[in-house]
Amino acid sequence: MIYLDHNATTPPAPEVLDAMGPVFVTAWANASSQHGPGQDAKRVLGAARATAARALGCKTSELIFTSGATEANHMALTGLLAAARAQGRQRLLIGAVEHSALLRLARSLTEQGVPVDFMPVSPDGRIDLTAAEALMGPDLALVSLMAANNETGALMPVTEVAAMAHAAGAAMHVDATQWIGKLPFAFADYPADAVSLSAHKFHGPKGAGALLLRQGRAFVPPVPGSQERGRRGGTENLPAIVGLAAALERLGDLASQAEHVAGLRDALESGLAELPGLHVWCQGVPRLPGTSYLRFGMVDADVVLQRLSRLNVAASSGAACSSGGSEPSHVLTAMGVPRDEALCAIRFSLGDETRAEDIALLLNSLPALIEPLLSVATES
Ligand code: PMP
Repeated sequence: MIYLDHNATTPPAPEVLDAMGPVFVTAWANASSQHGPGQDAKRVLGAARATAARALGCKTSELIFTSGATEANHMALTGLLAAARAQGRQRLLIGAVEHSALLRLARSLTEQGVPVDFMPVSPDGRIDLTAAEALMGPDLALVSLMAANNETGALMPVTEVAAMAHAAGAAMHVDATQWIGKLPFAFADYPADAVSLSAHKFHGPKGAGALLLRQGRAFVPPVPGSQERGRRGGTENLPAIVGLAAALERLGDLASQAEHVAGLRDALESGLAELPGLHVWCQGVPRLPGTSYLRFGMVDADVVLQRLSRLNVAASSGAACSSGGSEPSHVLTAMGVPRDEALCAIRFSLGDETRAEDIALLLNSLPALIEPLLSVATES
């Protein structure tokens, strides 16, 4: 199988499985218990926290383990908004192409009376900075923006937006789920107050993630409890946390890995360029190294995906979390892409274990499968 859906998830690395397995046997106790086994578990938790903090360039006290990025995003938005409310600030400003779960949360906050505004994207898929600037103001509590879009791969202007947010006196949260593990990152010199990440995007386990929260930043814990310094209650999922730390620890030189993966992605795109009607979104903007979001003329995505699975190639029609329906991608819609074009979107997301042979194989067989479809579905 050629797996080209790394933005949806990645296979767990052997080092991750090796690190997690023994934890179920030797550190199953509750890390809050005072007895010996509890203290053993607490030591394992402390070691994993130190490893993860080192890899993320943050203080151990700034690292809150969560069940993934969806929870980290939820905690960041609700916890930072609640803290800002005490200072008379209420409004939330988010990107128009955020992850679908974050957009759903924003909708539910609106229903609860929180004023929410959206930073639009330009047709190139990146946040329109002039429009963003116009949405800042003294009533602003929090700005939330993704570091990289999971569908298009477009990198967002986090530094510029964070500077605007801070100048307006608002907090800044970044959903860096698609960035961390693919591109270099250190919280110490990152412009945001809070950052979300998810282990399964970089060969860690599912159900493990973190919220990085800048020391001293006011925060009202949405799930109160004694764990995680009182900022996230619930007995820690120690095997998952150890897996997350192991996944971070094994990350190599991300800058050179990114260059390698981008080279394979570019080879894929130039190999496909001969197909009539090929259109690649966000090709000219800074993108995640392995992401290619494209359409083959006006061929419906479902038809292409069926052909790809016959080739034993796993790709996707967009975000795994919202695909499977007949609605066009909200990301492409926000970029102004017409519905019929958006319904043809295919996402290839390559990873660090993608091989040149995989891309060569795909380029050898794909055109023959797509060309007959192209003559049926002509551009309208
Ligand atoms: N944010 C982004 C940008 C994502 O791509 C994802 C995963 N699809 C999430 C959040 C949610 O992450 P998790 O699966 O860990 O809840």
